[in-house]
Amino acid sequence: MKGLKSLWLAAVLALLAGFLHAAEPQKVRTPFIDNWGQIPLEELARQAATFPGVFYLQGNESQKVIALTFDDGPSQFTPALLDVLKKHQVKATFFVLGKSMEQSPELVKRAHAEGHTLGNHSWDHPNLSEMSGEAYWTKQLQPTQDMFQKVLGFKPSLMRPPYGFLTDAQIKGIDGHGMKAILWSVASDDWYLTHTMQNAAAADAIAGQVVKYAHPGAIVLAHDAGGRTRQPTIEATDRYIAELKKQGYRFVTVDQLLGVKPTLN
Ligand SMILES: [Zn+2]
Repeated sequence: MKGLKSLWLAAVLALLAGFLHAAEPQKVRTPFIDNWGQIPLEELARQAATFPGVFYLQGNESQKVIALTFDDGPSQFTPALLDVLKKHQVKATFFVLGKSMEQSPELVKRAHAEGHTLGNHSWDHPNLSEMSGEAYWTKQLQPTQDMFQKVLGFKPSLMRPPYGFLTDAQIKGIDGHGMKAILWSVASDDWYLTHTMQNAAAADAIAGQVVKYAHPGAIVLAHDAGGRTRQPTIEATDRYIAELKKQGYRFVTVDQLLGVKPTLN
């Protein structure tokens, strides 16, 4: 009888733990950078809580998996980054600009051929939340979807808003188009650190930041274009992948992390 009772108790506790785990709110782990017009972290957490299954900051925390993401490309730095990912046999997710894709279709074709997931990061990187009506879609996301169709033969289901800004109405619109908005839980701050430091120090700082804040289910934000150089990002990626693998982490694409389809067609 006593054995049965403790079995029941264990079952109830397991159920409760599962419930608490599922109810854990999504949140950004890295600190806010002041005075750079960044989206408030509370606003990201609010939108993730308001639009579950559409607007994501992270994946489930039950497994030691991480999704690396690289924005703003493709650029002249993309091939070296792809080489680093290939060396570590890591598949990542690239949120590309339609305009850059038009200029360098061979780079997105290479990323796709090497097993990475590609998503829509707008046509030319405006703050979408400042655009009125349907312009965020007709002038930014739709032309990029069309460029995907032209270059790769499919339309992606994942998008990332430039600077993280979307209005609630735009999130509903993106949902209506069958897409998911992918934000992040760990900002590598590579744009800021590369802006404020020399290359070697920036690479150290970027790698340190990602290792420090990495967590099960993390979506890591970094960039393969923009700024004066992306060399520190490439070097840091090489180092933090090695370190996090030692800690038992596996790397997956965002669609794998969230269990969603990466394409619409
Ligand atoms: Zn961007």
